[in-house]
Formats: sequence, C-alpha cells, structure tokens
Amino acid sequence: MTVAGARERRVRAGDVELCVAELGDPAHPTVVLVHGYPDSKEVWSEVAARLSGRFHVVLYDVRGHGGSTAPSPLRGGFTLERLTDDFLAVADAVSPGRPVHLVGHDWGSVQGWEFATVVRTRGRIASFTSMSGPSLDHFGHWINSRVRRPTPRRAAQLLGQSAKSWYVYALHTPVLPELAWRGPLGRRWPHILRRREKVGGDGYPTASLPSDAALGAWLYRDNVRARLGSPRPDAFAHVPVQLITPLDDAFLSEHLYDGLEQWAARLTRRTLDAKHWIPRTRPDQVAYWITEFVESVEGDRVLPVRSGPHAQRFGGQLVLVTGAGSGIGRATALAFAKAGARVVAVDRDAETAAETAVLAREAGAAEAWAETADVSDERAMEQLAAKVDAEYGTPDVLVNNAGIGLSGSFLTTSTEDWRRVVDVNLFGVIHGCRLFGARMAERGQGGHIVNIASAAAFQPSRALSAYATSKAAVLMLSECLRAELAGRGIGVTAVCPGIVNTGITGTARFTGVDAVEERRLRMSAARWYGVRNYPAEKVASAVLDAVVRDRAVVPVTPEARGARLMSRWMPGASRRLARVEPRL
Ligand code: NAP
Repeated sequence: MTVAGARERRVRAGDVELCVAELGDPAHPTVVLVHGYPDSKEVWSEVAARLSGRFHVVLYDVRGHGGSTAPSPLRGGFTLERLTDDFLAVADAVSPGRPVHLVGHDWGSVQGWEFATVVRTRGRIASFTSMSGPSLDHFGHWINSRVRRPTPRRAAQLLGQSAKSWYVYALHTPVLPELAWRGPLGRRWPHILRRREKVGGDGYPTASLPSDAALGAWLYRDNVRARLGSPRPDAFAHVPVQLITPLDDAFLSEHLYDGLEQWAARLTRRTLDAKHWIPRTRPDQVAYWITEFVESVEGDRVLPVRSGPHAQRFGGQLVLVTGAGSGIGRATALAFAKAGARVVAVDRDAETAAETAVLAREAGAAEAWAETADVSDERAMEQLAAKVDAEYGTPDVLVNNAGIGLSGSFLTTSTEDWRRVVDVNLFGVIHGCRLFGARMAERGQGGHIVNIASAAAFQPSRALSAYATSKAAVLMLSECLRAELAGRGIGVTAVCPGIVNTGITGTARFTGVDAVEERRLRMSAARWYGVRNYPAEKVASAVLDAVVRDRAVVPVTPEARGARLMSRWMPGASRRLARVEPRL
C-alpha cells in the first residue's frame, strides 16, 4: 500500500534504505510527517491529502517499517542517533536548501523531539508539531522531579502514567512481542484499532503491520531505559514547537507536558477531545493546526495569543451558532471567537448577524462569517447547511440557540401561536441537529451539538404551556440524540438557562391580551429581567464548558438549578409552584 497520489523514491541513510513519499509542489514549504509505533507512513494519508494543496508534503517509513529496510543487527540499529541520521538524509534529499517543518505522531514525535533539540539539526528544521509523543529526555526529568520531590498530586501523576505505560514494559521482554505481533495480535490489531480508537477502513493499517510492530519493538529497547535513566540536561528545542494533546489518550497523560515551556520557549499548545490516533480520527483539525502553525512560522508571524481557558481547545474549530444576532447567541459566538474558533453567526436578521461576525473577528475569531436563515424554515436550513458545507466545512460545534418567547394560558394560546413557537423552538433545533448532525456523523471526526432549552423544560407553569412544552421537547430530543450519537464521538448537550437579561422579552408574544396590554407586559418583563440582570456571557461560558466536559444537561442560573432539583426531588412542590400566576 502507498499513499494515494504520492511520488515514491528511495533514500539511502547509512545501513538502511528509506521509502520516501512526496505530494504537492516541491517549490512550496516542505512538511515532513513522521509516523509512530506500530505504524507506517500511511497513518498520515488523510492529513497529507489535506496539506498537499499548500505544502510539499513528505512522508517516510521509519527504518524497519513499511517499505524501508531494517538495520542489521537489529539491536543498536534503532537508537535516536541513527533515527536522526535518517531524518537528515530525508531532509537533505527532499529539501536540500531549505529547512523543513517537522510533524511527528507517537514515536514519530518522540524522534521529532530528538531532532528538534540536538545541535546537528540546527538550520534544517523550521518548526516542530508534536502529537502524542514526549521527548524521552523531558520524560526522564519529569519522572526524576516526581520521585525526588513527591507531593500527593505529583505521586498520583507518576502512578497514573506508569499504569498507562504497561505496554512499554511488555515490549522490553525478549521474543514474546515479536511472537505476539507476527501471530494473533497482528491479526487482531485492525479490529482493536476499530473498536477502541474508532480508527480503520480504507486499507489502514497496512499489510506490513505485523512486521512493522515486531521490528519496531527495538525503538523501545534501544532508547527508553537508556534515556529515561540519564536524560540529557540540555534538551532545549531550537525551533518553535506546536504541541497537540488528545485529552483521551490511553497511553499518555496530559500532565506529561506540564512545564514544557522550560524546554520549548516558543510553544503553542492545542488540545483535542480525542483518543491517541488523531492523524486518522481528526485529520481536518490536525491539518488545520499544522497549516496555521507552518504558515505563521513561514510568514515570521507570531500566532495570535488567544485568551481564556478554552483557547487551546477551540482554536481553529468551526462553530455555528443560530440566533447569533443578539442575547445568548451573540455572547456564545463571541466566547468561541475569543477562544480563536472560526465562527458562523446565523440569524434571521441579516444585519445583526453581520454585526456579530464583525464583533467576532475583533474578539479574535480565526475567521467569522454571517449567514441569514430562519431556523423554522426547513428549505432555508437545507440551503444553509449546503452552503456551510461547501464554503466553510463541517461544523465541529453546533449551537442551536435561536428561540422565541411566548407567555399566556393554554386556553388563550391559539393553534397559530403553538405552531409558531414549536416551529422555531423545536423544529429549528430539529432542522439544525438533522442537517448538521448528519454531516458531523458522516465526516466521522466527532463534534458537539448544544441545544439551548430552558429552565422551563423542568419547571411547569400555568403561564408557559407552549414555551415550556417546546423546551421540554428540546431537552428530551437532546438526551435521545446524545444516546444515538455517543458511538460516533459526537456529544450532545441541553443547556437550560433560567432568567437571563436579553432582548427576548422585547419580542416575546403574550396571549389573551390586547396589543396595548401586550406592550405593557413586554416592558414590565424587560424591567424584571433587567433587575435580575443575569448576563448572557455567563450562559455562553457555560456552553463552552459544557462542550469541553461533554455534559448532558446544564442548568444555568441558580433558579434553573433549583428548578431541576425540585423537579427531581420535590415534584409536588414543583407542581404547586406551577399554579402560581406570574405578576408582571
Ligand atoms: P434574544 O435576545 O431574543 O435572541 C434570540 C435571537 O434569535 C435573536 O437574534 C432572534 O432574532 C433570533 N431568532 C429568533 N427566531 C429566529 C428564527 N426563527 N430563525 C433565526 N433566528 C431567530 O433571546 P435570548 O434570550 O438570547 O434567547 C436565546 C435562546 O435562549 C432561546 O432559545 C431562548 O428560548 C433561550 N432562553 C432564554 C432565556 C432568557 O431568559 N433570556 C431563558 C431560557 C432560555 P430577532 O431579534 O429577529 O428575533
């Protein structure tokens, strides 16, 4: 198997011959992708395809893997020094006059740290992107500092990582790993990857896997004990480094990278809600971050510093918010923008959507666009989804926020009123989930859907039958969809705010009263919401938090939390409260 569309050649490096594949125009900046264990260069095929339009992309099989030959003897043939020789041979062959941008995953990243920190590669590397593979020197110092100065927290981190490293001990035993990989483990590996990591299909892993894994055991045997035992004291990166950390990595704790700034002065951190094999499971996001980082280094630009606790997570992600022209929707769009996301602000009002897009760019959005659509209009939503798909991509996060208020007794609520509120508050969410959720699922790279329900979803009220019914339906829809999409790595959250000071009172419909009284009630409600004065920004921050933590239901504001508790533990009291007529 090879990488589709790639030009292959062989490069001699000392005692081995390396299989090197190239895509894209050699005149463009060169990005060298180094694979991990047990893998071959094909692990990068999805990322390479996405990068090849802008860069000269180079992949090679590490010695002993894929189409590259193995050293003889094996012992001592896989040291980091030999691997550095290989990298320099490839870099000299593919980009003789110009430093390359290095990207490594797993053992490719472990090697990458060596290349980026030793003196003899100076001037040959322009930047380094590291994924799921620490420097053995940094790791050695990390262990030493925890053994010498233990605290309960640091001891727990050490134990946690030791447990995750069980396979490293196993690979140090003689012969058994080879027998396992060339036998049953090698046969089952594709199945294990598919089940545990949701990785697979399209010819990956390749047929060389059993042999790659058996020979690659020497990567561990030749380096791990030696380096962890006496880590280099001067393993400082001489290039800008981008660290991409999947937060659900079965093999590496995110704490391994605590304090990495002391080794890499120019460090950009990214996090992903994903497991270990991100080049396969998150190629869009990985390719986006590599592109952004490489272009910033090439252009001698410092990447914009994004503030807030969510910047590492949402930088570059595509986030679509409906009802983004005001209130909670605008605040949410701006919170994602501040974290560096690419934001699509959708509203039925073109002008307010455009304002939000401008504000989002000012707040730090990587990019921001305004789109006009009425969420209750199925055709308009279909057109929106098709346009977003074609022009901006598949959203990583969808926030179905657009909604309208409606207050009044059931007996004074007309069928028309019901239709309107259900069309916007429920069908708007259904259209969003159906159209964008289907695209997220089809893309197969995870995502998150947030539906803005309300505290009215838990708390019945004699004055809110239509509104509360629509929001309770949104809550149940979110729970059902969460169950359905869990297996596809797509989270679903229902956010249930209480009383939030937005413009919703100005447009809410009050039934059973004439126009004059309706105006008075709106003004009175607006005053009341103003006195309560709970800011939309706090709901926005709860939305980002809910995505990061993959929460199912998030009541926001004390009254929303109270209503939820009461509905669970004191349903009688909740029903009595429902009978109280609100006085405006
Ligand atoms: P808001 O300030 O009125 O914002 C809602 C935005 O959605 C407005 O820009 C509105 O545009 C837009 N919108 C309304 N219908 C739409 C449609 N059919 N298609 C596209 N856009 C539409 O209200 P908010 O308080 O931020 O409300 C946001 C969400 O939070 C709603 O789902 C609401 O039910 C929910 N919520 C609000 C509160 C609260 O106390 N504020 C409490 C619980 C839940 P127009 O300006 O043109 O109407």
